[in-house]
Amino acid sequence: MQTLPNPTQTQSPSSPAVSTTIERRKTRPVPVGNITIGGGHPVVVQSMINEDTLDIEGSIAAIRRLHEIGCEIVRVTVPSLAHAKALAEIKQKLKDTYQPVPLVADVHHNGMKIALEVAQHVDKVRINPGLYVFEKPKTDRTEYTEAEFAEIGEKIRETLEPLVISLRDQGKSMRIGVNHGSLAERMLFTYGDTPEGMVESALEFIRICESLDFYNLVISLKASRVPVMLAAYRLMVKRMDELGMSYPLHLGVTEAGDGEYGRIKSTAGIGTLLADGIGDTIRVSLTEAPEKEIPVCYSILQALGLRKTMVEYVACPSCGRTLFNLEEVLHKVREATNHLTGLDIAVMGCIVNGPGEMADADYGYVGRQPGYISLYRGKEEIKKVPEDQGVEELINLIKADGRWVDP
Ligand code: SF4
Repeated sequence: MQTLPNPTQTQSPSSPAVSTTIERRKTRPVPVGNITIGGGHPVVVQSMINEDTLDIEGSIAAIRRLHEIGCEIVRVTVPSLAHAKALAEIKQKLKDTYQPVPLVADVHHNGMKIALEVAQHVDKVRINPGLYVFEKPKTDRTEYTEAEFAEIGEKIRETLEPLVISLRDQGKSMRIGVNHGSLAERMLFTYGDTPEGMVESALEFIRICESLDFYNLVISLKASRVPVMLAAYRLMVKRMDELGMSYPLHLGVTEAGDGEYGRIKSTAGIGTLLADGIGDTIRVSLTEAPEKEIPVCYSILQALGLRKTMVEYVACPSCGRTLFNLEEVLHKVREATNHLTGLDIAVMGCIVNGPGEMADADYGYVGRQPGYISLYRGKEEIKKVPEDQGVEELINLIKADGRWVDP
């Protein structure tokens, strides 16, 4: 591996320092049960159960499973009034047998009655502006008149108002969740199938909420294509800045699929925005068990330095200079130390480039000479030990520093 000059070393005293931490966009805090989205709080991880909410015991178990592995807000679907009513029991039983879990209910087609019912039982309601007041598409339509536009706008206001008032009066929240794939026909006519259409769709609902003094809003603009999703969120931020709005954003790539590509696609969309300081809560949507989504969320946040939920391992890719089986040793070091959340540990193949490239790791395990490795604390070489005692001695060093805890 090539050693690159450290930019901080070549920086002239007069040049300004380049920040290496992400400056997050300032947003207003929005409560969801005992969790807060935005307002400088850590980026919140959420997911959604697949269970039918009429299956009360199954849903409780699924919510618990997710919550226990770090999902901080759990979403459920409520396709009917009966599903909405079931949430009352789910919420109560969670509280009685486990603990209160922040819940969000997804309300879709013409969902006013359902939304009003479920708003009494959950902490946040998610509505999709494209579906909340469903306009039946007219196949022969060639234009939308201003009067038609105003008429639908009025219908949306009438339908949304009772829900907004209910959430406002209970101190609860709403997600205005626009989806690229389900924009209202009128938006499609005016703006096309574009990020502009997505943003205007969200703004129309935001304005109604604001006119009723309701500001507990989280906005999402998901798309299954990463460039569309990126453009929509960025445009939303620009428009909100112009309008003096600071609503937190929920990031996600819809229908990302499964396996490695699903994870990479989600990371490309979510990670790119987070790196720009955009985003207050994330959901990775995989076509897999929802439990599989949580580690991906945490890995994205950890890689960006936004949350620290595991040990950060720095390891070189190995090359002709490598003095031991790097993959095997990394595995052993990880097995022994992966419960020491908060530490950065480096495993590097050789002394030539290893110490310089292990960044600011707290501890380093570096190939010294055939059969020997060196242990480092930060940049300081602490001791040379035979390779077969390397992991044990690393543990001893961490223990001596008082930074060890038993698994
Ligand atoms: S062994 Fe690792 S640290 Fe050393 S030169 Fe090769 S890749 Fe770089």
